Amino acid sequence: MRLLIVSNRLPLNGVQKEGKLVFEQSAGGLVSGLSAYLDLLKSTSAQDIEYVWIGWPGITVQDKMQTEVKSVLGDLHASPVFLSEEAMDKFYLGFCNKIIWPLFHYFPSNTVYDKDYWLQYQEVNKIFRDAVLEEIKPGDVIWVHDYHLMLLPGLLREKLPHTPIGFFLHIPFPSYELYRLLPSAWGQEILRGLLGANLIGFHTHEYAQYFLRSVLRILGYEHKLGQILSQDHAVKVDTFPMGIDYQRYHSNPTGSEFEQNLKELEQLLDGFKAVLSVDRLDYSKGISNRLQGYKLFLENNPQWREQVVLLMIVVPSRVGVEHYQQMKRQIDELVGEINGRFGTLNWTPIIYQYKFLPLNSLLAMYRQSDVALITPLRDGMNLIAKEYVAARTDQTGVLILSEMAGAAKELGEALIINPNNIEAIAGALQQALAMPETEQKKRNVVMQQRLKRYDVVRWSGDFIQELLQVQKGQSRTRPLDQHKQALHAGFHQAGKRLLLVDYDGTLVPFTDSPDQAKPDKELLDLLKSLANADTEVVIISGRDRAILETWLGSLDITLVAEHGAWLKRRGEQWSLSKPLVNSWKRQLIPMLEMYADRLPGSFIEEKEFSLAWHFRQADPELSAACARELMDELVAFTSNIDIHILQGNKVIEVRNSEVTKGSTGLHLTDNYDFILAIGDDTTDEDLFAILALEHSWPGMLPPNTFTIRVGTDKSQASYFLPSYVEVKEMLQELAAGRTQNN
Ligand code: UDP
Repeated sequence: MRLLIVSNRLPLNGVQKEGKLVFEQSAGGLVSGLSAYLDLLKSTSAQDIEYVWIGWPGITVQDKMQTEVKSVLGDLHASPVFLSEEAMDKFYLGFCNKIIWPLFHYFPSNTVYDKDYWLQYQEVNKIFRDAVLEEIKPGDVIWVHDYHLMLLPGLLREKLPHTPIGFFLHIPFPSYELYRLLPSAWGQEILRGLLGANLIGFHTHEYAQYFLRSVLRILGYEHKLGQILSQDHAVKVDTFPMGIDYQRYHSNPTGSEFEQNLKELEQLLDGFKAVLSVDRLDYSKGISNRLQGYKLFLENNPQWREQVVLLMIVVPSRVGVEHYQQMKRQIDELVGEINGRFGTLNWTPIIYQYKFLPLNSLLAMYRQSDVALITPLRDGMNLIAKEYVAARTDQTGVLILSEMAGAAKELGEALIINPNNIEAIAGALQQALAMPETEQKKRNVVMQQRLKRYDVVRWSGDFIQELLQVQKGQSRTRPLDQHKQALHAGFHQAGKRLLLVDYDGTLVPFTDSPDQAKPDKELLDLLKSLANADTEVVIISGRDRAILETWLGSLDITLVAEHGAWLKRRGEQWSLSKPLVNSWKRQLIPMLEMYADRLPGSFIEEKEFSLAWHFRQADPELSAACARELMDELVAFTSNIDIHILQGNKVIEVRNSEVTKGSTGLHLTDNYDFILAIGDDTTDEDLFAILALEHSWPGMLPPNTFTIRVGTDKSQASYFLPSYVEVKEMLQELAAGRTQNN
């Protein structure tokens, strides 16, 4: 197996050494986690496992240098995607950081909906697609990372229908109300892009739910336990809270640098309690709120003055974006104000550094700080919080954490605060600094165990394993395209043929109201041209017999109504396929009526032996909730009567369980050398299943038995066709071919 990891940036930094460009590994959590996972796989599996990282190399590389850079990076498991400065400007600083980042972090007022940025985002995603296509080999697995590449899974899916593709979002996914602020075409394309993946991972259950809700509201796709079934492949949406490389933070790094850093800090902090704050400069991190909280704490607690120091590290980030420059000025001013107001000759309340710290220094800070104060207004996960807890080898230390960070879901033993509540920040500081060591340890032991168990290796392992499982569990139904020849040959060589064809969704599209789906002349002509002495055409439908009679009664074909309750063989009259009761209908109608009243746009259809509650025109989200409730209620209410409840395409149907399309269809299959069954719904699955079963017994059904599912839901059929359009095309070809051959 080979894993292709695709992210905006390669985990490598290009540096000039003695006039030459060399690349050094940048030690991010993702890189070390994935490498450790792959090492583990290699040592425990017979398979050869490799990985290649595809991404932007962090610098603009001139054309003439690209071949050389590619070859240098090739030795480091990396494949560069070259992007011009202008592209990076509009794509990265523009679309990613002025639209997606603020919107997904609940700062809609910071977004700039610039169409050029969107066009460049589309363009860069295509450049990444081409880079992946250049690299891919049979058997590879693709894992795309983060908000920069949300269109990529969809773009890849078009070209690689059978490759396992995973996507992980490292930032929050916002609620529908926020997401819908994106111009609708962009919002739709991004969701479609993401749904190109087989597995979409989020840090928290909430983000996954918000995503599913947007998919439902915007694209109208429902899900079942996080599984979305409306694409040409299985899509699973699930939660994988990203872990850290626990041992890396829990043990001492080798070399004297770390010891030196520890010593220097010890001297600096001698006699003071230390509160640590580390973030990238970003408005989502709540740095001002934190400073306000610290200020209030000093105001309220004069006894702590000259006793405590706030170590504040701000890492420069997205230097070219205005909001960031503004915020930097604000922070500088606030630090100046607090230090000016409370500072003394012997004490600086805030030690502030605006720079990036390497692991050695950061780890020393974690070890020397009594409290970590982490107050993002919104954060996908926040790894600093996890790293701080892991780094406390003596299990002391107090973590104060914002409830708006994904990490708060796993670190419930921390002091959890709302970052907009300045009093709460000040109060938590007071509580943290006064917390007895025994209590500190009690809280940290539990959190450390959790972080150790679900570390970054486990995180990547779980994701990849689930990705492979989703892919494996996909329906074995194949596209009909490459098998059309066999179908044609079977059809033309057969003496007697049977076509079992569903109506709605198979021969005609779904319409807002069922009585609009009347067959047009073209369809009637098609059915006429197919049916002859050697070919029996059966329309096998859930419709009632009256409407089938009106629309199709004049044709020389067989009609099956109400999923098999009624049968009209060609040239004969309607008859019940077996004696059935329908007294249960009276009891259920009031219940369905209540739901029809509650959900505007939904209505009840009453047939002789079944009842259907249709909700195609209703609000998709509300209808999903109502449908679930009604299903529950119906199942409970009908447990002791012999009826069947099934959820079809925007409809819930209740019918006698004694008849199905399967039993009725099978009853019609005697004496044919070619059988073709086509349908688009759950009720057609009964037919596919029974044909598959009978087909496995020699002599029961002809070898030329074909089953086709319309759409791409998981199915027992052997083949699928995308929609009713292709079904009609295929039937037209059969009809025309037969005419030519005869
Ligand atoms: N980090 C670092 N040096 C610093 C500040 C941060 O190496 O001076 C690392 C830190 O160890 C963590 C990551 O940067 O792994 C920050 O991740 P987080 O999820 O907390 O925030 P993000 O920057 O991804 O929003």
